[in-house]
Amino acid sequence: MNENDVVACLANILMIAGSDKKFTHQEQEIVEKVRLELGADDALLEQAVALVHGGNYQITPVGRFSDQVRNLEDMLLVSMADNTLAMEEKKEILHFAQQLKLTQDQINRMLAQTKALLKGAGCCNACGTPLDPSGNFCTECGAKIK
Ligand SMILES: [Zn+2]
Repeated sequence: MNENDVVACLANILMIAGSDKKFTHQEQEIVEKVRLELGADDALLEQAVALVHGGNYQITPVGRFSDQVRNLEDMLLVSMADNTLAMEEKKEILHFAQQLKLTQDQINRMLAQTKALLKGAGCCNACGTPLDPSGNFCTECGAKIK
């Protein structure tokens, strides 16, 4: 991804983090995690903040499909970090997912994975199903949980 794409990815996250007008500590931590994942420096993050504060920014998928999916995952993470998916956030995220041409099934799976991730249970290495932290085997494919 070029620098413009990285800025757009960050701006997408910031839009979701800021759309309920509250910017919690946990949301800040996720933004920081995403910044590091993207290899963006503070200057690029500031560009993204400026873009969002400009008021006309629209959440847009950028980069390759895999970049877009990861961006969506991070958007879900930041939106669910405070345990609620606000209506406005939900609308923005669904619109983004539709632009990626994801099915409702795929979206539901990503939602479940994000919930599991936030609970710290993680997902099955074999099939990606969110895991029950108390179980020894994946309920979906039967793989052993390490
Ligand atoms: Zn499995």
